[in-house]
Amino acid sequence: MAGTQLDLISAEKWGLFTNVTKPVVIAGPCSAESEQQIFETAKALRVAGIEVLRAGIWKPRTRPNSFEGVGTVGLQWMQRVQRELGMKVSTEVANVKHVYEALKAGVDMLWIGARTTANPFAMQEISDALKGIDIPVLVKNPVNPDVELWIGALERLNLAGLKKIGVIHRGFSVYGKSKYRNVPQWQLPIEIKRRFPEILMICDPSHISGKREYIQEVAQQAMDLGFAGLIVESHICPEIALSDAAQQVTPAFLTDILGKLIIRNIDTENLEYKESIDDLRAQIDIIDNDLLELLANRMKISDEIGKYKKQNNITILQPGRWDNILAKVSEIGKARGLDCEFLEKVFKAIHQASIDRQTKIMNKK
Ligand code: PEP
Ligand code: MN
Repeated sequence: MAGTQLDLISAEKWGLFTNVTKPVVIAGPCSAESEQQIFETAKALRVAGIEVLRAGIWKPRTRPNSFEGVGTVGLQWMQRVQRELGMKVSTEVANVKHVYEALKAGVDMLWIGARTTANPFAMQEISDALKGIDIPVLVKNPVNPDVELWIGALERLNLAGLKKIGVIHRGFSVYGKSKYRNVPQWQLPIEIKRRFPEILMICDPSHISGKREYIQEVAQQAMDLGFAGLIVESHICPEIALSDAAQQVTPAFLTDILGKLIIRNIDTENLEYKESIDDLRAQIDIIDNDLLELLANRMKISDEIGKYKKQNNITILQPGRWDNILAKVSEIGKARGLDCEFLEKVFKAIHQASIDRQTKIMNKK
């Protein structure tokens, strides 16, 4: 359903954040572990200016026999935070039972975890259970980098009548070693923002990083891209956390991260800036046109080659030639200060498009 629009209510009207033009920050432990841990963490976060607490009550763990959350009793601890600290509280729901329990306890906002977003059956059941309920829901990206699956989850909620919907970018699973626990693949949240410019877009630097020392740089990147806020895992004593210990930060550490963040503006009235940007963009537009023309010409020649290959019954793929092209591109590109990995991606896409066109030519009756 590419091209669908969502019927959304802007986050200013959710009654959760006093100022949505500053980055909104949701913080709290990965999991609620005890009444004392929740309360002490929330108290310190409140002092740090955090308005919305996060805590997982039911934890989706990759392997059985890990800590799977305290369950319903944790909701009472969250109620105490609402009552005594005046904070709003949020938790993850992954099935209908969670939805009923969380709503009964008066949780202020729900979020959908990455494993649940990836499952249309679960998303439909949750959406049906939420029909007619006016509660904000944040939808994490699915574990796999599939933007349509992410949008599908948003659409299911929206079709059930929910309008206070936002998204959380928490990165994507990879096999093998990588710097971050979940690779950011920023192009996916960028695509969501392109399709739904009004949606509240929050970054979860904790689950992207996997390690507290990377949170600052990921959070800054989110600010540089114009994200509306952050959801950060914070625990009064991260070393003894029962889940995601390495990525949780103390409330003091969180204050330090937020203090160092540079917040960018979406726009400015500065005329000199506007003129310079307009001028540079005009140059980019001309270059983009040239690129398109060059690409079109390249494809035309590639079509000619396809015809000759057909006449002479020659394979489309010529590994030696392709290898030469890649080597040359990488050598010239390097000398011009271009990133080799980037060039490889671009030329692989061009080469594949050429092959696709030649395949059509070759099989034309
Ligand atoms: C969480 O927020 O603690 C969580 C389980 O996150 P995710 O769904 O992003 O893995
Ligand atoms: Mn977690």
